[in-house]
Amino acid sequence: MAPARDSSSLLREAGLRATAARVALLNALCATHKPLKAAELRRSAGRGMDLVTVYRAMDALEKAGLAKRIGVDRTSASWEFAHRAHHHHLVCRGCGELEDVGECAVEGLEKRVLGKSKRFASVSDHSLEFFGTCRDCASAARAA
Ligand SMILES: [Zn+2]
Ligand SMILES: [Zn+2]
Ligand SMILES: [Zn+2]
Repeated sequence: MAPARDSSSLLREAGLRATAARVALLNALCATHKPLKAAELRRSAGRGMDLVTVYRAMDALEKAGLAKRIGVDRTSASWEFAHRAHHHHLVCRGCGELEDVGECAVEGLEKRVLGKSKRFASVSDHSLEFFGTCRDCASAARAA
């Protein structure tokens, strides 16, 4: 989902300076409907940006609540625009490849979880990742 406002004003509203790197990276995030790895962000943000700049800018976007980090560990981390509609992910244990799962099958579960809880008054959100093996890793394993 594209934001109603442009990236510079999103950044300023989040209390960040709208540097060229942050604007370019936020644009790249908003324009894509899948999680992006650092290398992919760097490619779509354009020339002249090194990976250190990407990581530093993404840290800032994350802290400001504009980007969401997804993934098993830091080396295979991906980000997506934080204001996207609720969804889940498939994550490859082999290479960290991510895929969006559009449908949420566990919304009724929140009520059940809350019903069983003794100490919680409400459940506002949940996160769920499905782990497995992507097709590339599966065929690499077959070839080896
Ligand atoms: Zn894989
Ligand atoms: Zn996603
Ligand atoms: Zn869900």
